[in-house]
Amino acid sequence: MHVLVLGAGQLARMMSLAGAPLNIDISAYDVGSENIVHPLTQTVIGKGLGNAIANADVITAEFEHIPHDILETCQQSGKFLPSAQAIKAGGDRRIEKALLDDAGVRNAKYYVIKTREDFDLAIEHVGIPLVLKSALGGYDGKGQWRLKNASQADAIWAEMAECIAATDNQAIVAEEFVPFGREVSLVGARGKDGSVAVYPLAENVHTDGVLSLSTAISDLALQAQAKEMFAAVANTLNYVGVLSLEFFDVDGTLLVNEIAPRVHNSGHWTQQGAETCQFENHLRAVCGMPLGSTKLVRETSMINILGEDTLPPAVLEMEGCHVHWYGKEKRQGRKMGHINVCGDYSGELQRRLCALATVLDRTAFPAVHEFAENFSANK
Ligand code: ATP
Ligand code: MG
Repeated sequence: MHVLVLGAGQLARMMSLAGAPLNIDISAYDVGSENIVHPLTQTVIGKGLGNAIANADVITAEFEHIPHDILETCQQSGKFLPSAQAIKAGGDRRIEKALLDDAGVRNAKYYVIKTREDFDLAIEHVGIPLVLKSALGGYDGKGQWRLKNASQADAIWAEMAECIAATDNQAIVAEEFVPFGREVSLVGARGKDGSVAVYPLAENVHTDGVLSLSTAISDLALQAQAKEMFAAVANTLNYVGVLSLEFFDVDGTLLVNEIAPRVHNSGHWTQQGAETCQFENHLRAVCGMPLGSTKLVRETSMINILGEDTLPPAVLEMEGCHVHWYGKEKRQGRKMGHINVCGDYSGELQRRLCALATVLDRTAFPAVHEFAENFSANK
């Protein structure tokens, strides 16, 4: 099987690593340069979308900010999974919100803003505090504003107006501020036959809007709620592949924050912690193979490596630690790789996270240090 991935980043790279044992080989299409590249070496192996599509059995995507004409061309080839519709929903918060309403899943109240009048209506309908998010192009907390009191409205509108003017078809989605206790996400797969397999929920910690620490958790009531919402969204889209839902947990009630129509950063822990990792399951689904077991095999956390290209050797020395680099050039704040940390019995994972805090730099890995501090304070 030959799978073409739209996007040539770390997700395509990890699909390539997971596909090899199943004889699934991957090439990646860099949407910007129009180059077809090898997902591990980034060597250019071809040029142009037409060639890329012609050589593929299946086409999929590793990100959602893809020009719609490219999505339509892929859709027309009859090889594209999950679908242009699903990718568009992940890339445009207006479509995403309409989908969540369609699927009947709880999400934050919202209002779409194009003009200053709309902004006033949003304040009236949704109320303050407001979280304001650009409809197109937002990721890692970028393209967002918080309106905490009415006096900030003029200053925020000036920035939002600039954002709306800068991109064709741009808008702002105003959302009610959700007073959540924590953020969790559910990654799962839906096969061509409609079968659904979800992983255990992950609890996610963000640092400056970027995921920093993600831990698989066991909470049967929350898991059942999340699975039902996952199935509702996946079935509405007639989805095939791995899909991810981010939630706010408000005292045991989940609201969907957003969806990602792809493998997700909060699912990287599955490489060591689950029987079948999310990358393999995505490939199995889009290639029409049976889904693999999503069972937790070891308690696992994932730590993102942001803006660093080296780690102390003690990390590799530590039992239960697995390092995944993405082969990227160092840039401030960039996702350069991740560490999966596993434990085999109760408390071992927590102890290893604490041990990691003693060797990892505090500025680069604040979430690990905060975990360790809270852990020892609560002991
Ligand atoms: P991602 O990298 O996950 O795609 P993003 O830029 O698309 O991020 P969101 O996930 O929508 O943005 O928001 C980033 C963070 O902002 C959330 O993880 C959450 O902590 C906070 N946030 C977003 N929406 C709300 C809300 N309505 N109420 C409270 N906090 C929110
Ligand atoms: Mg998010």
